[in-house]
Amino acid sequence: MVTAPSKVRPAGYGRAQAVFTVDVEDWFQVSAFDSHVSRSSWETLESRVERSTDRLLALCADTGTKGTFFTLGWVADRYPALVRRIAEQGHEVASHGYWHQRIPTLSEAEFRADVQRARAVLEDVSGTPVTGYRAPSFSLTDEVPWATRVLVEEGYQYDSSRFPIARPGYGTASGERVPHLLHTEAGALHEYPPAVWPVGALQVPVAGGGWFRQFPAWLIHRGLDAVLQSGQPAVFYLHPWEVDPGQPRLPVGLLTRVRHYRGLGACEHRLRALLQRFEFTSFHHLFQAA
Ligand SMILES: [Zn+2]
Repeated sequence: MVTAPSKVRPAGYGRAQAVFTVDVEDWFQVSAFDSHVSRSSWETLESRVERSTDRLLALCADTGTKGTFFTLGWVADRYPALVRRIAEQGHEVASHGYWHQRIPTLSEAEFRADVQRARAVLEDVSGTPVTGYRAPSFSLTDEVPWATRVLVEEGYQYDSSRFPIARPGYGTASGERVPHLLHTEAGALHEYPPAVWPVGALQVPVAGGGWFRQFPAWLIHRGLDAVLQSGQPAVFYLHPWEVDPGQPRLPVGLLTRVRHYRGLGACEHRLRALLQRFEFTSFHHLFQAA
């Protein structure tokens, strides 16, 4: 195991740590593909989630990184050994829901059933408590105010889904960038927004995913540095399919094609450099250190 001595962790800020998160889903379980890939066809498509998640686990092991793996219940049901590997290697298993449906497309009862089923299977398979949630496509927005209460009622303690930039169907108007409490009638949920770097009037998303593949690496590194130096945890995310340049291509429109496929070839190399540069941990370890 290699631990780079130059990893960034500002002294004096107990909670100012970079948090590495993975949304564990297969290459076809992406909201932007909903009109191309029906749920009923999932079983018929080539699954690549085990292989690509194992690549991320290997990168974590090489760089001394721990992370939180927000895993789909659907994946845990089909690949329980993968979820066990994640837990056995010291990472946190958390929930990405069961069916990867954007919350505003669900009724309250449907959402409750989805997060309940996901948590049950993930706890059963991993043998660890599941307390964290990330919504498919960061869809825990102001459109669905009831969803936060449902998460608390279903045993979740924290969430990392409220992206602090406003875009249609994505992000939150309040733009709250720092960890905060979401109060509900059932109790409070701790919210840890993905990392956004304020530069003047601009809010630059440096949290990972497509942003990580499209933006220059120096900008991501500087943004994460800035968030950490402000005394806040910097939450970063990636998907297993982002380190799988050989995944089948779907006949999607230009914008989705750029967002989804651009930069896949260089992603693993860039991720290794990032994990060597910053000392990443999981939410579980972040809470323990506080
Ligand atoms: Zn997802």
